[in-house]
Amino acid sequence: MLLDCGNGVFAKLREVRDYVDVDAVIVSHLHADHFFDLVPFASALTYAPRWQPVPVDRRSGANVPRPALHVPGGAAAALRQVCAGGGMPADHVERAFALREYEAADALEIGPLRVRFHRVPHFVATHAVEIAGATGRMTFGADHGPSQELADFASGTDLLLLEATLARPEPAGERGHLTPSEAGEHAARADAARLVLTHISDELDLGWARDQAAGAFSGPVEVAAEGAVFEL
Ligand SMILES: [Zn+2]
Ligand SMILES: [Zn+2]
Repeated sequence: MLLDCGNGVFAKLREVRDYVDVDAVIVSHLHADHFFDLVPFASALTYAPRWQPVPVDRRSGANVPRPALHVPGGAAAALRQVCAGGGMPADHVERAFALREYEAADALEIGPLRVRFHRVPHFVATHAVEIAGATGRMTFGADHGPSQELADFASGTDLLLLEATLARPEPAGERGHLTPSEAGEHAARADAARLVLTHISDELDLGWARDQAAGAFSGPVEVAAEGAVFEL
């Protein structure tokens, strides 16, 4: 399962897995940094040499996989616009994936994993995602401003991935992101077992960000890093 597929993700995915082994992709919201690489992913599923009727790497071209793609309501129309605007068939993504639009109240079963959603405050319809398996549960906040509902949704989670986008809160208007300190406050309110800060620029001092979060949350705090592995 791949959770969000923003710019750059498809190349990184290929470093750790063959993309044909992805059964399902879940997208939290329709901001480019969370879905743009559905386009090259769809291109690989559609045009890669291994799917052509010539022998490539022992693959015959048969059995092209069609992973499930779970996207927020309204995303199919948005994806058609993106593909058409990029000079591709409008249904480029829908042809490559079995697309289903979810609602916040939906619950999914994907293999041995159970998936739940919760709306969070952001600039477009955005969903926190909980993934639970036999040995534990992780909660991914996606992008969001301060939210007691997110803390409630994540209550008691084993692994909480929260964004820590901002060096300081947005000065005015609608809140749509958190500071590292606010991420720590949310983890404390959720009584999470551990916190991982995500969606953070490497132009920030990551040690400072970790310390800010740790000042508000007494559990273990890490800053997400490429290739990091967390066991539940
Ligand atoms: Zn966003
Ligand atoms: Zn984002």
